[in-house]
Amino acid sequence: MLSVTEDIPLFTSWIGTRRHITVYRFGVGRPGPKIYLQGGLHADEPPGMLVLHHLIRLLQERDDEPNGEIIIVPCANPIGLSQRIQGHLAGRSDLGVGGNFNRNFPDVSAQLGEQLSLLRSEGHVLDEAAIRLALRNAVAVVVPKTELDSMKKALLGLAIDADYVVDAHCDNGEVVYAFVSDPDHPAADLLSRHIRSVVTIGGRADVVTFPAACYRPWRVARELLPDVAATRRLAATIEYRGTRDVSDDVATEDAQGLIGFMEAVGVLESSGKVQPEAVSLRTTLECVEYVQISAPGLLIFSKATGDNVEAGEEVAQILDPTTGERKSVTARSSGIMFGRVGSRVAVPGSTIATIAGTAPLATDPGDPYP
Ligand SMILES: [Zn+2]
Repeated sequence: MLSVTEDIPLFTSWIGTRRHITVYRFGVGRPGPKIYLQGGLHADEPPGMLVLHHLIRLLQERDDEPNGEIIIVPCANPIGLSQRIQGHLAGRSDLGVGGNFNRNFPDVSAQLGEQLSLLRSEGHVLDEAAIRLALRNAVAVVVPKTELDSMKKALLGLAIDADYVVDAHCDNGEVVYAFVSDPDHPAADLLSRHIRSVVTIGGRADVVTFPAACYRPWRVARELLPDVAATRRLAATIEYRGTRDVSDDVATEDAQGLIGFMEAVGVLESSGKVQPEAVSLRTTLECVEYVQISAPGLLIFSKATGDNVEAGEEVAQILDPTTGERKSVTARSSGIMFGRVGSRVAVPGSTIATIAGTAPLATDPGDPYP
């Protein structure tokens, strides 16, 4: 399969420093569904970057061409990749004032109506192609003030008109899980099956993550042009196990899972393989418990990710080594523990684990991982 590589330069915030984002494009200009995939938005999460490296390789080795476009950014965050503190890569949050790299993306929903009106005044028929163009135009008029702004604009500009958006991250556990913008989208189930997601969580977050910035405008498009914007979009975050799960063999299997998904939704010609069985618990954000702690100490987990947990059951202990006192941390809900924090030093007020159940919880955790 033919690929075109492009470097998108970022706005320069620092004298003597120029960064860029490298983009791999397959099926440039071909009609059909478009999929956008990126890794490393949290730059200290290498598994997704490796999966996309192998995905690019596997696509380049194919003899066919896609039934649409595939855009892949294996390293979405060169700013984060350059942040080191005391020998550790600090790639999750901007060391300046930008905060979590996966927050505060521009939400162009509010500009969509104006952009569609402009296109209508220029004689465009307001069909789906016009919506895609209006969305690209809405991103194009965003004015970046910093290098970080320009990075977010560049990523969003590549993904905003895609039918499928995949943002590859990782956690600190042993399992693959996913967040999806629309759990009822037929492709949500296909994605879960092909990536072997243990838990797939749907629902809208209040914060503007990258996937949220990609799917929110399409919801507005459906409201503005319900007869035209019938095609649903799916934006997903895949969490590929833990930060140290960096293996060519595993990443190749994960890349093959993404190829299976692309075949299932028609971006690639089907190889006729049987659809994998569903292994996922499907639930919503309201049914996710963020286990938070109130005491300092050493964090000793009693449960691993992927384990079933009953309400009231211990998931961890917090040990104060100066007194020997241990505090038990218990689950409020029953479900599957799917995520856990990387540090084993407990910080009061922080989230140490996540449990996916099937019953909504009364409390709103806010942004559990700011
Ligand atoms: Zn992440």
